Amino acid sequence: MVYNWQHLFFPPKCLICGGPGHETLDICHQCRADLPRNWHSCCRCALPLATDAATGLLCGSCARTPPPFSRIIAPWLYQSPIDDLIQRLKFQQQLPVGRLLAQLLAREITRQDRPALLMPIPLHNRQLKSRGFNHSGEVTRMLAKELGIPWSPWLLRKVRETPAQHNLGGKERKKNLRRCFRFDSRQCPQHVALVDDVVTTAATAAETARALKAAGVKKVEIWALARTPADR
Ligand SMILES: [Zn+2]
Ligand SMILES: [Zn+2]
Repeated sequence: MVYNWQHLFFPPKCLICGGPGHETLDICHQCRADLPRNWHSCCRCALPLATDAATGLLCGSCARTPPPFSRIIAPWLYQSPIDDLIQRLKFQQQLPVGRLLAQLLAREITRQDRPALLMPIPLHNRQLKSRGFNHSGEVTRMLAKELGIPWSPWLLRKVRETPAQHNLGGKERKKNLRRCFRFDSRQCPQHVALVDDVVTTAATAAETARALKAAGVKKVEIWALARTPADR
């Protein structure tokens, strides 16, 4: 734990309940302990499974068709207060919330087998202009700082605009995303992690992983904050 002058003048304060923060984080011990963990989940796509499921299980979908990514890390369920924190970052651009989420996610990443590069799941240029901000980019930037891993917001691009995914069924989602990501890198890293806020279905994760693998990346992981209980 490293304290610096900032913590002296601006002591950590819980961004959920307003109480004093824990260690150097802007979250108190109790609120951190109460975050909804995604304990029982598929070991490839992090889909929440039954609460009595053993660890290391695959969901039916990953068992039938192994996905192109090696795994999704999504430590929390998209429920209160994680959903609220993500929305505060996404729609109100509350950067301290982004820093907290990145710090919490960084603590879930083990030291072994770290990727050579982090990249956010990109937005199309038009989406970026209308929103003015890629919140996953903010989380990636702060996560890269926490972990000491290089990151790039530009190498992976969304080259085709797609209708919103949430109204579509599984097959339409896959069709909707086909060939809409492009990875431009002359020096292709072997191992990359893509950062997203919420994994609703693994369709976006799969399509981005496909684009990276087509460019020569050997191993693609998806690091997300939260997972929803939907099927691919
Ligand atoms: Zn609290
Ligand atoms: Zn799965």
